[in-house]
Amino acid sequence: MNNAYDEIPKYLKQKESNVSKAHKKSKHKHQYAECLIRYKCKWHEKDEISTCLRSYCVICGKIHDRMKNSIVKDYKIKVVTLHGTVYQFISDDDLYEKYHDRLPVFFVDIWNDNYVNLNDENTN
Ligand SMILES: [Zn+2]
Repeated sequence: MNNAYDEIPKYLKQKESNVSKAHKKSKHKHQYAECLIRYKCKWHEKDEISTCLRSYCVICGKIHDRMKNSIVKDYKIKVVTLHGTVYQFISDDDLYEKYHDRLPVFFVDIWNDNYVNLNDENTN
């Protein structure tokens, strides 16, 4: 009979099970950092990959809105036309091409996932 596990003090066993559920903990102040979210979408019956600018909690992975002080300065550009001033948003492709090496990139199922997988960070 192996009693090794039973010899571990109770508080240590307790700690062990808490750690595995740590990412679902809600009792922390979310720490948001900017990131790119990539997701699949259907476009003319074809699967395309879209990119959007969001933020995520570095502790639990919760997806949040775009940061106010974004490093993406050309996300929305003011364009003056004959008919007035309009705002043009950066295209998904430009967003990814220009910023994927400066921001963490996460792939999610955007309609179902509220959290990014923190182990999934694309560091390329
Ligand atoms: Zn959080």
